[in-house]
Amino acid sequence: MSKAITSRSQDYSQWYNDLILRGGLADYSAVRGCMVIKPYGFTLWENMRDVLDRMFKETGHQNAYFPLFVPKSLFEAEEKNAEGFAKECAVVTHYRLKSDPNNKGKLMVDPEAKLEEELVVRPTSEAIIWNTYKDWIQSYRDLPILVNQWANVVRWEMRTRLFLRTAEFLWQEGHTAHATMEEAVEETRKMLDVYADFVENYMALPVIKGVKTPNERFAGAEDTYCIEALMQDGKALQAGTSHFLGQNFAKAFEVKFLNRENKQEYVWATSWGVSTRLIGALVMAHSDDEGLVLPPRIAPLQVVIVPIFKGEEQKQRIDAKVAEITKGLKALGISVKYDDSDNNRPGWKFAEYELKGVPVRLALGARDLEQNVVEVARRDTKEKQTVSLEGIVAHIQQLLADIQENMYNRAKAFQQANITNADTWDEFVQVLDGKAGFVAAHWDGTPETEEAIKEQTKATIRCIPLDNTQEEGKCILTGKPSKERVLFARAY
Ligand code: AMP
Repeated sequence: MSKAITSRSQDYSQWYNDLILRGGLADYSAVRGCMVIKPYGFTLWENMRDVLDRMFKETGHQNAYFPLFVPKSLFEAEEKNAEGFAKECAVVTHYRLKSDPNNKGKLMVDPEAKLEEELVVRPTSEAIIWNTYKDWIQSYRDLPILVNQWANVVRWEMRTRLFLRTAEFLWQEGHTAHATMEEAVEETRKMLDVYADFVENYMALPVIKGVKTPNERFAGAEDTYCIEALMQDGKALQAGTSHFLGQNFAKAFEVKFLNRENKQEYVWATSWGVSTRLIGALVMAHSDDEGLVLPPRIAPLQVVIVPIFKGEEQKQRIDAKVAEITKGLKALGISVKYDDSDNNRPGWKFAEYELKGVPVRLALGARDLEQNVVEVARRDTKEKQTVSLEGIVAHIQQLLADIQENMYNRAKAFQQANITNADTWDEFVQVLDGKAGFVAAHWDGTPETEEAIKEQTKATIRCIPLDNTQEEGKCILTGKPSKERVLFARAY
């Protein structure tokens, strides 16, 4: 038996790392802050990507691809964006290595191969894309442009954590161009809804939709909308962002169009992205001390079947039944694996698939076959049931749907139980230091107060919820008047 997983109560961070590594999602790599996504983790990402990609296409977007490198002069063009990202940029200065004359067998940067202009490894692609859009847009007939890119980006993060914050990460970035402000704002909100729909209905994770304060806004945006999720340790995680970029990038790159009145006007922009961070969110929100718990709709493997037998004759009878079940499941598009490897005993396999979060496990023994039943175990509640083999395929299909729903409901109940109103500073601190979660409190609307609260408590304003009700109140720090509560939390 391999070493047990650290429990959540013992060390939440270590528990998370244990699950990622032992669950086979990712490994550390030779590069600081960069990880290796292993096949099981990558299949999960592919499943998420496939659903999102379909949703983007259904909302009228097309995929394209832009270069990894951004010439520094382009990167600088939108000043706020450049300034915001400057401190975490990797920069290419040379294009060649050569043998080091003073150090046999070693290479050195060839000083003669210095680039005339440095290249920034994209931390985000607005600059290179808007420099391109300049050539694509002349008149209102060329608009809107609804483009998405699946890519990797690099942000030289100082404090990294598997999936949640890595120096290189995979993501999608949508970049759209519009003729009017209204249309761009509508697009921004629409894509936020797409993200919320995906995270809630596929990842079984409830989110709060909101808008960021100016302090937390994407560099170069006029407004940043976000979805915020709650992890089991009471910390919040920003799970996706959608930015209304106004005309900032159009002005920086001189992207104008001839409108219907035959007048030149700057183009309106949005950008939106979700990343491999979502995998971290999934793990942190649903898993338990036995391992991963993955929602059926995106799980890399939905059903595993483990045979329990003595001798070849029993095995053959089980094989035949399993072939039948497997065929039925596959016909419904359900992924299934028959683990009849004889390297490991059934008990070991059970623990392994629990660790990997496979939603449904079937254990089929010779005696079960005689009685025409099978043991069905669900990963979310760890309940086991003996079920008739008659109609087993339909039973599993329904069970997968039940697990998906149960996981969402459980996470929703947790989220609801962890949104607490605080009306005084003492209450505020008490909640943060106690069960944490989201604290709904009044704030005077100034960046200074937001900053002071952050310094004293490490809590940030996660968002101003879109469905907020207006309510008179007093700022928990300064006592100044406020018209609505905002959501604070300590966050990843
Ligand atoms: P942004 O461009 O900053 O709005 O981020 C777009 C998306 O990428 C958001 O959903 C972030 O949660 C995610 N993200 C930002 N930085 C990282 C990182 N270092 N590692 C993984 N995901 C990230």
